[in-house]
Amino acid sequence: MIHDKKAHKYGMVIDLDKCTGCGTCAVSCMSENNVPFKEDESDKKDSITWMRVYRLTNNKPFPDTEVAFLPRPCQHCGGKGDHGHSPCVSVCPATATDYGYDTGIVSQIYTRCFGCRYCMAACPYHARYFNWWDPVWPEGMEKYLSPNVSPRMRGVVEKCSFCYHRYQLAREKAYASGSDEIPEADYQTACTTACPAGAIVFGDLNNPSHKVHQIVKPDPHPDPLNPDVVGKSRNPKVFRLLERLGTNPKVYYMSEREWVRKLGDHYLDGEWDKVKNVYGSASHE
Ligand code: SF4
Ligand code: SF4
Repeated sequence: MIHDKKAHKYGMVIDLDKCTGCGTCAVSCMSENNVPFKEDESDKKDSITWMRVYRLTNNKPFPDTEVAFLPRPCQHCGGKGDHGHSPCVSVCPATATDYGYDTGIVSQIYTRCFGCRYCMAACPYHARYFNWWDPVWPEGMEKYLSPNVSPRMRGVVEKCSFCYHRYQLAREKAYASGSDEIPEADYQTACTTACPAGAIVFGDLNNPSHKVHQIVKPDPHPDPLNPDVVGKSRNPKVFRLLERLGTNPKVYYMSEREWVRKLGDHYLDGEWDKVKNVYGSASHE
């Protein structure tokens, strides 16, 4: 199955020079996926946001101060060598989180999860959330929940699914029309379609006709400097978070500004030249 030539590899690229930090992606994600919220959301430690928008700054004094915003969904890691051993999948004792070799999507099966939260400890991106309470919606709002996504119960972990229900609907539509090809426009995540800045592009990284493939130009061969890294972008403006860990995320980021690319990789002093995109780095400090 791993070597199925027709396997999809869904992923996204987020343009950090277009993102304004408005948070529409986070709100549309919550609405689409029935993500619960608390009456008091001021304690961010306990709040659930499958898509979280972080603020970055170059730390320079005025007038040279610059900021950027970095939306962070689950990175749908392929794990070392891109074999499907994502950090969270590898540690789950209940197989409640699994790697889809036909889509590259890391799933979460709520009815199997017993809340040990090993996956939360293993995830280097803080992309997983624990339900400390049963979800409660303001009166009347439960009528507006999405019928395609099951709400989660107290005691289980949840995270971004790349709107997997939309993939299922698109696949059914394709089968009904006698095709096994899912058109690019038929499967798009809620955040992608909602972003008013057009900062998010989603599609099949394995399909050369998809925009995400054309922007990222993923290298299918292992990185000569780090054989655990596969799918490195051949676009010098494109990077992945903590790429050198070999988690092989399917969420890519893009920026003209080198300080943004450096921050995204969370490099240590003296490390940047070793970890930056080997295809070159036309910088824009
Ligand atoms: S970002 Fe975290 S939750 Fe998502 S696949 Fe990677 S390790 Fe798992
Ligand atoms: S909706 Fe678009 S512009 Fe707004 S925070 Fe999300 S990615 Fe950025």
